[in-house]
Amino acid sequence: MSRTIVIGGGISGVACAAALNNRGRSVTLLDKGRVLGGRMASRRIRDSGTPFDGHVVDIGASYLTAKDERFSSLIERLVDLGVGRAWTDTFHVASSDGIHGVKTGPMRYTAADGVRSIVEHLASELPDTEVMSGHDSGPISVEEGALTVGGEGVDAVAVCMPSPQARQLLESGSPALDAALLATHEVTWEPVIAVTAVFDAATWREFDGIFVNDDPVITWIANDGARRGNGAPVLVTHVQPVLAARHLTDPSQVLPATLSALQRVLGISEHPSWADAKRWTYAKPLTASQQPFFLDQGFNLGLAGDAWSDGPRVETAWLSGHLLGESLADRLETGTTS
Ligand SMILES: Cc1cc2nc3c(=O)[nH]c(=O)nc-3n(C[C@H](O)[C@H](O)[C@H](O)COP(=O)(O)OP(=O)(O)OC[C@H]3O[C@@H](n4cnc5c(N)ncnc54)[C@H](O)[C@@H]3O)c2cc1C
Repeated sequence: MSRTIVIGGGISGVACAAALNNRGRSVTLLDKGRVLGGRMASRRIRDSGTPFDGHVVDIGASYLTAKDERFSSLIERLVDLGVGRAWTDTFHVASSDGIHGVKTGPMRYTAADGVRSIVEHLASELPDTEVMSGHDSGPISVEEGALTVGGEGVDAVAVCMPSPQARQLLESGSPALDAALLATHEVTWEPVIAVTAVFDAATWREFDGIFVNDDPVITWIANDGARRGNGAPVLVTHVQPVLAARHLTDPSQVLPATLSALQRVLGISEHPSWADAKRWTYAKPLTASQQPFFLDQGFNLGLAGDAWSDGPRVETAWLSGHLLGESLADRLETGTTS
């Protein structure tokens, strides 16, 4: 039996599956990760030897913003359900030698249980999607004129992930796959290393987040206790991309420089009791495609994610997946089979 497959259980894949389900299409959603969420990643602190074991910390996307009407109403609904949480519209601004001021912007949203819980919640609402995590899709190819995923025939496939990861799935050799491969080459990606630091107590001045400008080591500090709303003395710091790129094979090497930059910017002398570094090789696309998604002219093969959109944000990834899902549903309704 032909199937519609969405590969990638981040926000763009879940949005794509939702759009297809809403149009009466049943979907299989595959993610190679143990859990869904992708770069909307949260982890529970364990074995830290501090009283903050159990605290859920966001180690990928720091927050969500919402401009598009469709995404805004989704976020409002999540807030009403108690899944999402309006966090703050004000962050501090710092440079290497300390905090200089505040900057007000759009409302930033988060989730009481970590941003990953938003993806989990949206996946749990899908009316007609079989979710398979811990499942690598295998290669996408065209065999005897029909699309296959992992060797099985499908009627449509949406690949919702960073383009370098998508590229690993697309077997060259047919015009459709070559066109998709070509499309994935348009964007370059920058890495981030996110350092989580657990302190004994918060000795810093109150803040939600700090944009750190012109520092050779760090770019951003999030107060995860403020983000969760529980006041835990847990900070997440992003390492400057050029430095991150040099340490992707062993991200723990950035810990000493990152923690001393953190102390310098916050004006504190305390050391964290526990710290850990998480690498994101493909954290953010540096440029975005003009189109909100890719859909092959002939085959029902699509690509979506934050590179197919207006900047590397959760909102644009969601929109890209949503619009690809709608376009695939249109195609499938007109009877194209592959
Ligand atoms: C450190 C960091 C900070 C960020 N901060 C913000 C922020 O503050 N605000 C904001 O709006 N955005 C932020 N972003 C960007 C935001 O996280 C992304 O734009 C968004 O989450 C992208 O979602 P996605 O579904 O397109 O991709 P992803 O979340 O990357 O999902 C892709 C999924 O595909 C799966 N996958 C890959 N290969 C395979 C395969 N072969 N088989 C099956 N599954 C596969 C992966 O496991 C993954 O779950 C940040 C990102 C990072 C890394």
